[in-house]
Amino acid sequence: MQNVKELIQKAGVVGAGGAGFPTHVKLADNIETILVNATECEPLLKTDFYLLSQESSRLETALEALVKITGAKHGVIGIKQHTGELLGMEHPKKVSDLVSYRFTGNVYPSGDEIILIQDVLGKAVPGGQLPISVGVVVINAETLFNIANAMEDKAVTHKYLTVAGNTEKTYVIKVAIGTPVSYVLDSLGVSVPQDCSVLEGGPMMGNIINPNTSVVTKTTKSILIIDNNTLCIRLKTRKLSDSLNRASGNCCGCRMCTDLCPRHLMGYPIEPHKIVQRLSAKANDTKVFMGAFYCSNCGVCQTIACPQNISPNRLFQRVKAELLKNGIKAVPMEQTVPKAVRNYRKVPSKRLVNRLGIRKYERDDFSYLELPNPARVSILVKQHIGAPGDVSVSVGDAVTVGQIIVKAKENALSTNIHSSVNGTVVEISESAVHIAVE
Ligand code: SF4
Ligand code: SF4
Repeated sequence: MQNVKELIQKAGVVGAGGAGFPTHVKLADNIETILVNATECEPLLKTDFYLLSQESSRLETALEALVKITGAKHGVIGIKQHTGELLGMEHPKKVSDLVSYRFTGNVYPSGDEIILIQDVLGKAVPGGQLPISVGVVVINAETLFNIANAMEDKAVTHKYLTVAGNTEKTYVIKVAIGTPVSYVLDSLGVSVPQDCSVLEGGPMMGNIINPNTSVVTKTTKSILIIDNNTLCIRLKTRKLSDSLNRASGNCCGCRMCTDLCPRHLMGYPIEPHKIVQRLSAKANDTKVFMGAFYCSNCGVCQTIACPQNISPNRLFQRVKAELLKNGIKAVPMEQTVPKAVRNYRKVPSKRLVNRLGIRKYERDDFSYLELPNPARVSILVKQHIGAPGDVSVSVGDAVTVGQIIVKAKENALSTNIHSSVNGTVVEISESAVHIAVE
């Protein structure tokens, strides 16, 4: 296994859909199940669907190889039932004795790894613990694709991502890492109207970006152009002070935020309504506030649950930061028992789309394109959780696709970053290596 872990680290594989956790670190000795998260539960995204529809045998073969190499018992690909139907699967497919598909409902947030593990494997990860505590490692579909490449000694140099929203079509594109977002939009003929914002990531958990200064990284999942008038954008642009004021004046104690909270329903000690009420009363209640550690920031409380337009999750990010500042950390649970009502309180994806005001952007079909390289790429030095590596090239150096330009730090949570193009290093700034494309 050490050999494969080294290949994965050398290739610079990190979680392609989230915060970018270096993948080689996840491959422990005691894995029972490797679970591929291909649910793509955020609305509008099609990237995983594209990979599943075009690269399924490559993904399945890579998963089987990984199961054998790690000594795991099996590999499971978790997809939404809706996706399964689109892929022609009436029932979850058994690929081999080691690899099979399993379905989740068309609900949000089925891609939260804690929820996915419960829904497709029936295992409850205790709060504050990692999936490996129940013998599971979760990797994203594109991460598995990058592992398949790494096993052939190919580095992560390109990214698959969805471009959708206020666009003529929905696109899935393959693009060199470091490509400016403005170039992506120009290449597709997409302009950003004044009354729209650009999101990187999904409508629920993505962030508003400036397309003129942002570049594609290993974790860029999508670029969405969304009307500012939608709840999706209004919630993201709301000031924290506004959320606090609303909480103080408007919380009616209905506890809908708690009743629908996916993490509360998993049996975790988080009761959003109590946190909001204590905050409103300016009461100091560490025991209740510590519930914020178990929040995934999925946004169900603010988007679906709260009738008073309060954003509990926004407040909890601040509560967490305050607790950590005071040296208070999450206490790992020994076990958790999901609530019996959990299955009846899931949020249907359709309801979420309607609530966010983005129904008009939903399309079943999409176009796939491989974009030509821009004239210049800016490859960020830090694209993953952990320690950034050390720049290993100088201005004037000629580089080729797949060449290491940022070397992983030794004995640290770190991984390599490679050139995505053939060209010449023209500038090295604190945050990026800039390469003029040949
Ligand atoms: S964002 Fe809200 S609903 Fe989601 S886990 Fe946190 S408190 Fe619960
Ligand atoms: S859903 Fe809103 S109004 Fe109801 S308890 Fe939670 S924060 Fe208060």
